[in-house]
Amino acid sequence: MLTKISADKFTLQGVSLGGVYTSIFAPELGTLFDLGIATRSAAAADHIFISHGHADHIGAIVSHLGIRALVGKRKPPTVYLPVEIDKPLREMLKITKELHGYDMDIVTVPMEHGQRAKIRGDLEVLAFKTHHRVPSLGFSLIRTITKLRTEFVGLPGHEIAQRKRAGEDLFRTEERTELSYSTDTLVQVLDNNPQLYKSRVLILECTFLDKKKSLAAARAGCHIHLDELIERAELFENKALVLMHFSQLYKPQEVREVLKSRCPAHLFERIVPFLPKSKHWPG
Ligand SMILES: [Zn+2]
Ligand SMILES: [Zn+2]
Repeated sequence: MLTKISADKFTLQGVSLGGVYTSIFAPELGTLFDLGIATRSAAAADHIFISHGHADHIGAIVSHLGIRALVGKRKPPTVYLPVEIDKPLREMLKITKELHGYDMDIVTVPMEHGQRAKIRGDLEVLAFKTHHRVPSLGFSLIRTITKLRTEFVGLPGHEIAQRKRAGEDLFRTEERTELSYSTDTLVQVLDNNPQLYKSRVLILECTFLDKKKSLAAARAGCHIHLDELIERAELFENKALVLMHFSQLYKPQEVREVLKSRCPAHLFERIVPFLPKSKHWPG
C-alpha cells in the first residue's frame, strides 16, 4: 500500500491523496511530513512536521503514537507545527491519553513564518507561511556545510593542520536547502519564497491538473493547479520536484499521462510524481 520513490538522494515513502490522507517519511533524514495516515515504517521518525490541522494531514497522529509505543520507541517525538494549533493538539492528546490508557507524549515546537529550529547536528528547519483556509506552514530542511576557504584549497594536509594549530581561520560555512515540503496552499507560496525553487528536493502539492477542475475552483479551495506550475516552469531548479496530494478526480495513471502531455521539458524532467504503482489509489 505504500508509495516509495527516490527523489535525488532521498527515499520518500508513505501515502498521499488529496483530501484523504498525506504522510511522507524521509528515512535518511528521520523526518516525517504530516500524519494523515499512520504507517509502520514511519513509526521510528523522531521529527514530525505538521503543515496544518486538517484531518487528512493530522488525523492519524494518535494511531502513529500508538504504533510508536508498540515498536518500543520510548522517547516522545518532536512535533514542529504552526503555533496556532499547538494548544488544541496538546489538549486533544490529553483526552486521548484517557481513552488509550498509556502516555501520548510529544514535544512540540510551535513555529511561525521565518523561524528556525535545530533538528540535530548540522540540520535545521525553517518554517515558511503557506496559504490555506486554516493556519498553515511549510518547512525547509537546511544543512550547514563547512568548507575550506578557496585560498587554501590545494594546500597539502600537513600545512592545513599546521595553520589550523596556529589558529588561522581556514574554513567557511555554507547553507544548503536539502528538502522542502509545502502542501495545501495557494501557488503564491512560490512567489513569496523563491528559495523553494532552489531547494535540492521540493515536495509540493499539485491537487488539480487540468480542466476537470477550473483554476478558479482550485484557488477557491486554496490548492495549486498544474496551470500555475506550468506558468512558472522556467523557475524550477530543483534536482527533484516531487508532486503529490493529487485529487481523486484522477487515477494514478491519468496523473502520469497528464503530467507528460502538459508539462514543458524543463519542468517535466525534474518531476517525480508521488504515485502508487497500482492502478488505483491505496485504500
Ligand atoms: Zn490536504
Ligand atoms: Zn487542508
